[in-house]
Amino acid sequence: MKPNPITTAPADAAARKAIQPLVCYPLETLPRPDLAAYQALRDDLELIETVVVPPRSAATWTVPAGHFCRIVCSEGPQVGDLNLFNANDLKERLYTGKTRALNGTHVGLGDQLFSNFPYLRPIATITHDTLDWYGFDEFGGAVHDVIGTRCDPYTHNLLSQGGQYHHCCHSNLTRAFARKTGMAPHEAETYVHDVLNVFMCTGFMRDTGQYFMKASPVRPGDYLEFFAEIDLLGCISACPGGDCSAQHSSDTAKCYPMLVEIFKAKGLPEGWAPPPTSGYDGTHGE
Ligand SMILES: [Zn+2]
Repeated sequence: MKPNPITTAPADAAARKAIQPLVCYPLETLPRPDLAAYQALRDDLELIETVVVPPRSAATWTVPAGHFCRIVCSEGPQVGDLNLFNANDLKERLYTGKTRALNGTHVGLGDQLFSNFPYLRPIATITHDTLDWYGFDEFGGAVHDVIGTRCDPYTHNLLSQGGQYHHCCHSNLTRAFARKTGMAPHEAETYVHDVLNVFMCTGFMRDTGQYFMKASPVRPGDYLEFFAEIDLLGCISACPGGDCSAQHSSDTAKCYPMLVEIFKAKGLPEGWAPPPTSGYDGTHGE
């Protein structure tokens, strides 16, 4: 937050503030996927696996490269906190910070989700979003943010003067990832990373810049779909906040299960090739 200033503004304050902003990473130099090539495959997809994500819990699944994956709202408005890993190298995982810097605060159709350093490559491409009609609302809110970090028991403990709650998304993801990998929970926890908040409706207060949430507009039947650019291990938590209209980190919100569907396509997008890891030589000038 920016408090009321105690420093006298300089004489040219208005001129300095009036400078027009520039988009940090111009789209002209960001390689964009050939969305039509991906979408050409969508009419003939074969559902090969369905995973149920229980409320206030998390589930894992794998998606081979070249397959499609849908996160589905099945029974009621519910937000999901998504982690993505390279299924063959768990050190490579979704990097929401750079994904946000490259695409914007909320992702949508045609956006690509990037992995961390030193890999930095698109690991998933969003190929359909039934909530694309929402855009930005009058408060600056939108769905599918890559801003929030995930609800967690540490922040809950801090803000509730010592509360202990074990079904925050961070803990749900930790338990599910531990079960999948055989790691002990304290080791699994170190792999859990900042999430794509699927279906969550968030933004920043215009006056204070504070992160806000509001009831998700998602309804049963809605889904977010992506194409796996590499073999992916997915992990998603059905947030204890439910539609995130009121609060997190408790058992008071109405929560619903979610579905994850994995689809096989008849072929690969025309002209598609597996994304290489970053071409930077990694020497850092030494
Ligand atoms: Zn959560």
